[in-house]
Amino acid sequence: MDQIFLEDLQKVFARLKDMAQENRDYLIELDGVMGDSDLGLTMVSAFTAANETAQAYSGNELGELLLRAGMSMSKPLLQRWAR
Ligand SMILES: [Mg+2]
Repeated sequence: MDQIFLEDLQKVFARLKDMAQENRDYLIELDGVMGDSDLGLTMVSAFTAANETAQAYSGNELGELLLRAGMSMSKPLLQRWAR
């Protein structure tokens, strides 16, 4: 692969979302050993948000897509902490 296109990045974000969902329970189990068991929930919500942003992106700047997707990952976390 010589170049990365917008569609490639959108596929990456879709796959990351799928991977988070597929491993949700395992991540919860791992975090439960020494943490508060929320890692699976956190990763699913963060990568779901990033994927939604990536799929909806209508520009043509890969850097902007990455920035927007990254910024969107924090929104569900901030909403959860604000409760
Ligand atoms: Mg945790």
